[in-house]
Amino acid sequence: MMIVSACLVGVNCKYNGGNNDNDKVKEFLKDKQYIIICPEQLGGLTTPRKPSEINQAGGKEVLIGNSKVISCENKDVTENFVKGAKESLNIAKIFNCKQALLKEGSPSCGCNLIYDGTFTGKKISGMGVTAALFNENNIEVFSEKEL
Ligand code: SF4
Repeated sequence: MMIVSACLVGVNCKYNGGNNDNDKVKEFLKDKQYIIICPEQLGGLTTPRKPSEINQAGGKEVLIGNSKVISCENKDVTENFVKGAKESLNIAKIFNCKQALLKEGSPSCGCNLIYDGTFTGKKISGMGVTAALFNENNIEVFSEKEL
């Protein structure tokens, strides 16, 4: 069983109310069993919501309390992101998922790249909060860019 970012298969859970519907992802998943999640919704955030970025760090730093997730309106949403990651992990464990296909670049789901916290569109190496928590719990994470 695989965990998949819900926005990748067309669920309108993205911050702006849209999705990241991806034909390559749907083709890849055609014969597989999977569960869709949106960590940011699971963390109690609304859709639509203000975009957020990790403040000059990665998801691992957020999980150990060394960095925060901040919205573009300067609201601290760290608690929502950590809660969403934990709820996502809970779902992954219930269904014994060993792999997660997640949306690249997201402060929750990014597997290799995230925005740098300046809201200027600049990306840096790093994982989102949920991807980092999955990684720490031996769930292999990969993005739609790696298919
Ligand atoms: Fe997609 Fe993940 Fe962002 Fe939800 S949190 S919209 S699943 S990238």
